[in-house]
Amino acid sequence: MVTKVGFIGLGAMGLPMASNLQRKGFDLNVFDLDPARIDRLAELGARRASSIAEAARGADIVVTMLPATPHVESVVLGPDGVLAHIDRTAVLMDMSTIDANGTDRVAKACADIGVAFTDCPVGRLVLHAERGESLFMVGADDATFERVKPLLDAMGTAIHRCGPAGMGSRMKLVNNFMLLTVAEVCAEAITLGSKLGLDVETMRDVTGATTAQNGQFHTLMVNKVLKGDTQPGFTIDLAFKDLTLAMTAAAEQRIGLPVGAAAHAVLGGARATPFASQDYSALLDLACERAGIAPPRLRGDA
Ligand code: NAD
Repeated sequence: MVTKVGFIGLGAMGLPMASNLQRKGFDLNVFDLDPARIDRLAELGARRASSIAEAARGADIVVTMLPATPHVESVVLGPDGVLAHIDRTAVLMDMSTIDANGTDRVAKACADIGVAFTDCPVGRLVLHAERGESLFMVGADDATFERVKPLLDAMGTAIHRCGPAGMGSRMKLVNNFMLLTVAEVCAEAITLGSKLGLDVETMRDVTGATTAQNGQFHTLMVNKVLKGDTQPGFTIDLAFKDLTLAMTAAAEQRIGLPVGAAAHAVLGGARATPFASQDYSALLDLACERAGIAPPRLRGDA
């Protein structure tokens, strides 16, 4: 039997995601505050819902793809929202990027009325959503995951199980913390290089061939500290020296590097501790020490 999907939120991401579901044979009933977005899906053959209630009623799976926590809470928990109308046998799949506490509140409200729930935020860009090549970070129990998996297969190419409900949202915020701070570091590095007279092609080519290119987690840390190896390598003392070179050059050029300054302060503080002579990947252990947690290690490694 064809799965009936109520899809709410047809924005930059929701529109291409829902379009892929429609093209791949799901029975869609779609709603957005903007009627022009509904028209785009109707042109592909989707049914038009005139309200949240109408999109939710009779669906096997209700998908929400909305901007932020207040939108999701109002659409799902509001007096005429999804949970007031959804079948008790249906699944609610929230694919928005929202506060994990908001996800927990929605998950609890679903559990209270016996509706299955999964948080499934989306990675990658609009262009990937258009091609059906999105990545999903799924928080769900096994039974709920099996029910939504055909939809995920129709919209994307990479599915990551992150744990029970709530863990998808938590993975997403960690992912975006990393990508956004790295984006700022890239912006600061390119600015510093430009001030020092380097052309951007040279910076692209050199940093693309060293561990500056997202190598800190995936090349450095997975091969050193995450295996329990903090032998240098490249010591934190030397890393401080190098970052000081960059910060001094920036000061000479009269430019500020805010994220660089924060990293410099962390490395500077580490030099008074035994971490100074360890590999700089041990910044992870230092951060965990500050957080009062045991540092993680890759499974199966000493
Ligand atoms: P968007 O603002 O383009 O779209 C949101 C849609 O929700 C709009 O069409 C809006 O009309 C609709 N909407 C808002 N309130 C509504 C309501 N009460 N009822 C019905 N429809 C309502 O946002 P987007 O870029 O599609 O992002 C959606 C989510 O996905 C966000 O949480 C975002 O952080 C996340 N995300 C975005 C991207 C991206 O590249 N744009 C990538 C990954 C994840």
